[in-house]
This record gives sequence, structure tokens and C-alpha cells, in this order.
Amino acid sequence: MASGILPVPTDPTLLADIRRYGKFDITGCYQCGSCTLSCDLASDSVNFPRKSIRYALLGLRTPLVGGLEPWLCEDCGDCTIVCPRQADPRTSMITLRRFLCGQYDWTGIAARLLRSRTWYMASLILVAALTVVLILGYHLWYMGLPASQLTTALGLEHMFPTITYYTLVVILFPFLLLLSRVLRIWRLTMSGEHAPASAYWSEAWASLRHAVTQSRMRKCPSEHRRWIGHWFLATGTGTMLAVKVFGLRWFQTDNIYPIYNPQRWIGYLAAAFILYGGATVLVRRLQAQKEMRPRDWGLPILLLLTAVSGLSVNIFRYTGFALCAHFAYALHVVIATPMLLVEMTFGKWAHMLYRPLAFYFQAVKERAAQQIPAQEGAGYAV
Ligand code: SF4
Ligand code: SF4
Repeated sequence: MASGILPVPTDPTLLADIRRYGKFDITGCYQCGSCTLSCDLASDSVNFPRKSIRYALLGLRTPLVGGLEPWLCEDCGDCTIVCPRQADPRTSMITLRRFLCGQYDWTGIAARLLRSRTWYMASLILVAALTVVLILGYHLWYMGLPASQLTTALGLEHMFPTITYYTLVVILFPFLLLLSRVLRIWRLTMSGEHAPASAYWSEAWASLRHAVTQSRMRKCPSEHRRWIGHWFLATGTGTMLAVKVFGLRWFQTDNIYPIYNPQRWIGYLAAAFILYGGATVLVRRLQAQKEMRPRDWGLPILLLLTAVSGLSVNIFRYTGFALCAHFAYALHVVIATPMLLVEMTFGKWAHMLYRPLAFYFQAVKERAAQQIPAQEGAGYAV
């Protein structure tokens, strides 16, 4: 063994494990490196997709799970076009991201949902059904309304104090669970880097900048149009989540405001962004010539339905259809709850945390590498 090369145990089950998350058809790969050469986002310090594929082929679980590369891929597909072995590295990177989501979640629920269509669909339906039970329970038992009055046109104000706490729980629970994974991801990807605190501090804005601008996607020349839709979707959902967490009492009211009031136009703008961004994602996926799973459709569809039902509540309220507003509001809660508790907590939406975090940690690694003299030959030789 060459001096400085770390001995790493191989895991013969790794490939089979990855394939439980989706297509990973890379056995024909002969490591020519054309995919990496074609990738506009690969560099000397982030060598992908070839390196990740190589780790998987060799059964090197530890460096694969400790790698950030799959999150740095923006899914443009250039590598798949140039691959002489039709190994489809782009799809392999998608599968690796699902696999990593499963590794990051300490509850094991994400792994189940990402591997099984049945578990995914059943969890969405179960949470939606429980939400219906909670809504009925609130009206019939908590408020003591007779069943005959469930179809009576009432204002929504009576439920706002309760729904405020409910909304905070279904938004903050996923956030807290996601934050608990930050420590786990740091341990898996950064604990061996010995990066100084100054590197974390000086690169903190890199993650924030990416989360706000989604600018990395623009570096792929073929992805400019996709970046616009993605930016609208990320900005719309981010705005709506911020409003729901920090300004729910102001945003959620039966008061009638003029159109120029921020309470209205901020909501309309965020909903329009989500509708445009979600629609472009759906159209792109319909046109895509790649493997799609139900969970690939789940998030954009749920986001669109949440935005449409939320807008419907507003329209019915402002046009005086109180009973319609009441039912539209119940439908909005029934759609939004599984989206937050299943998709955001254990599904694809978790990437809104993982991607910026990966950019941040990668920037920290690169900053630390400039500050700490490189240990010659150290690392995994692939
Ligand atoms: S271009 Fe294809 S064959 Fe070459 S390294 Fe990449 S995945 Fe393997
Ligand atoms: S899909 Fe695009 S960004 Fe991702 S590895 Fe391939 S070329 Fe690079």
C-alpha cells in the first residue's frame, strides 16, 4: 500500500442498497471520466460524478456517505449525453441523493419512504386522513358544534387561535427534525476535516446566498430556463413559510383589506411564484426522458394544490362566499399538512436544507484547504 493512502473497508452490499432508492445502472462504467469533463460544475476540488460512481462500484460506503458531491450536481444531464457506455450518470446522481437522504435521517422513516412507493403514498394518505379527523374533532367536540351546523356559513376567525398553534407545530416539527440532521451531516461529512472555526464563519454567507439566489444552477449553461422556474418556486415557498411562522396572526384573519395592503399582495405574489415555479417543474418532468417515481411528482403537485386551495380561500372570502371559504380552508389544511409532515420532513423537500448545507460545507472545506497545508497523498485513492 502506498504511503498516505487510507485503508477503507469495502461493503459488498452497498450497490444493492443504493439501487433500492432508484436506478443506478453504472456497471458498464469503465471510468473514462468523460462525464466529469463535461460537467460545468466539477472542479479540481469537487470531482463528480465519476468519483461518486467509483465509490459505489468499489463498495466504499464511508467516503460515499461522507461526500457532498451528489448535492453539488444540478441535474442538467450533460454527463449522460457524453457517456459512451450509456451509464446515465445523471440519474445515478439523483439516486445517490435519495440514498444520502436515507442515510442522514436517524429515524429511518425517510429511507422507508424514499425506497417504497407504497410507504410514501400510504403516509401521505394517512396524514391527510388524520387531518380530516382533527378538523371534524375540532368542530364537533372541541367547539361543540352540532353536526347540522357543519354546513353553516361561518367566519373562520373562531379557529384562528387553535390553527395558529397547529400551523406552528406542523412547520416547526419538520424544521427541528431537519436541524437535528445538520449535526449528523456535519459528523458524516466534516468531522474529519478539522476545519478551523474561522472557515465556518467566513463561508457562512455562501449557504445563505445560494438559498436566496439558487445561483449555482445558472452555472450550467443548459439550465438557465430551469433556474428561473426553480428560483420562483424557492422564493415563493420560502416567503410563504416565513409568513406562516413569523406573521401568521397578521396573515390569517377574517378582516377585509384593500388590494394594496401588504397582507394581500405578499400572499398573492408568493402564491403566483409557487404556481409559476411548480407548473414549470411539472412541465419539465412531463417532457423529461428519465425515470420518474411518484415522489418526483408528489412535491410539485402538493405545492400547486396548496397554493390553489389557499388562493381559493382568499377569493371566496373576498367575494362573500363564506361557506365555500370554510370548506376551501379545510381542504387547504388537509393538503398542506401531509406536504409539511411527510414531504418536508422525510421526502424530497428536505433538499431545501441539504443542498445549501452541502454548498456551505464544501466552501468550508475549500477555505480550510487553503489555510491548512495539504497532507500529501492523504485521502481515498479511487
Ligand atoms: S462517462 Fe460514463 S463510462 Fe465514463 S466515467 Fe462517466 S459514467 Fe463512467
Ligand atoms: S447532471 Fe449536470 S451537474 Fe450533474 S453531474 Fe451531470 S453534468 Fe454535472
